Amino acid sequence: MVLRVGVVGGGQLARMMIPAAVNLGIEIRVLAEAEGMSAALAARSVGDYRDLATVAAFAADVDVITFDHEHVPQAVLRALTSSGVAVHPGPEALQFAQDKLRMRERLAALGTPQPDWAAVTNEAELQVFLDAHGGRGVVKMPRGGYDGKGVRIVSGAAEAADWFAAVAGDPAGNALLVEELVDFRRELAQLVARRPSGEVGHWPVVETVQIDGVCAEVFAPAPKASARLLEVAGEIGDAIVSGLGVTGVMAVELFETSDDRLLVNELAMRPHNSGHWTQDGAVTSQFEQHLRAVLDLPLGDAGATAPWTVMMNILGGPSEGPLDARYVSAMSAVPHAKIHNYGKDPRPGRKVGHINVTGEVLDDVTYDAREAAAAFQD
Ligand code: ADP
Repeated sequence: MVLRVGVVGGGQLARMMIPAAVNLGIEIRVLAEAEGMSAALAARSVGDYRDLATVAAFAADVDVITFDHEHVPQAVLRALTSSGVAVHPGPEALQFAQDKLRMRERLAALGTPQPDWAAVTNEAELQVFLDAHGGRGVVKMPRGGYDGKGVRIVSGAAEAADWFAAVAGDPAGNALLVEELVDFRRELAQLVARRPSGEVGHWPVVETVQIDGVCAEVFAPAPKASARLLEVAGEIGDAIVSGLGVTGVMAVELFETSDDRLLVNELAMRPHNSGHWTQDGAVTSQFEQHLRAVLDLPLGDAGATAPWTVMMNILGGPSEGPLDARYVSAMSAVPHAKIHNYGKDPRPGRKVGHINVTGEVLDDVTYDAREAAAAFQD
């Protein structure tokens, strides 16, 4: 009997679960949005993840349903679970990754440290919050944002007028989220996994560097992290994954404030860009761990295998066409760099791959990773 995992979404996260599944002897199937997606290497169906009949038919042939993204509607997820399908993470947990306002409410109830925030339904309410927070704040669309889209720094309520109009009449809620503008030293991410029977395991906290709202570089573990920082970040991850009943891998994006606090920015309930370093720098990669977790198998060791791992994203474009020559030059420039290609057509700004370099000395590892990544810059 071979265990079968069904992944909804055919992007690079599903694709990178494939080698882990092969090694574990697990069969993986993908419900892709279109032909020719990143995860087309796996047995696949093509269909609309918003359509219950499509997802239910896909689920009929697998032992567990999991995801490459968080966009499957709650109604579809709840219909699946009530008909007995194992869905991990389940709808009850996933709602907190799908809606940032619900996340803030739930984390507040859990006592998790987070920025000051409020739900606001009109400009007057937003202005009250801004006035109480030095005249500025960060307004967020509760649903559908990614890579910084749906996040706006404002210094007056009128700057969010179009967003109030956009959520007016939304059956899922007509409020926007506003947060204090956090004075952060750097951004961190805590990756953690939990299986349905309750076992939890976290990797060391990492530093993430965003450029234009997109993750560009990850340093693992977070440089200059004290034992205390590693411990507190790990405890935050463990408390959230258990408190929210998350199953599978979850990433907690954190701000390290200039006065040494850790505040939760947001949650991703799936393997995450901040965890790609684990493919080459940890005993168990986030993709293997996700499969183990959603199948309720014992978790693997989440420890690092080298003192340092640096991950750099490769963004496609501006030129169109195959990246082969650039991959070859990166390979020859830094032979110990591990190159991960998502098999996507390059488009400006699109994530098409990443590079991991591991080693003993952070400066050397960073230099090598940047040299390999430079082969992709035009
Ligand atoms: P997305 O869901 O699009 O990734 P995030 O909520 O992670 O959006 O916000 C994107 C970026 O905006 C963050 O990585 C951070 O740099 C900045 N940001 C978000 N919230 C705040 C905040 N409250 N204070 C300061 N910067 C913020």
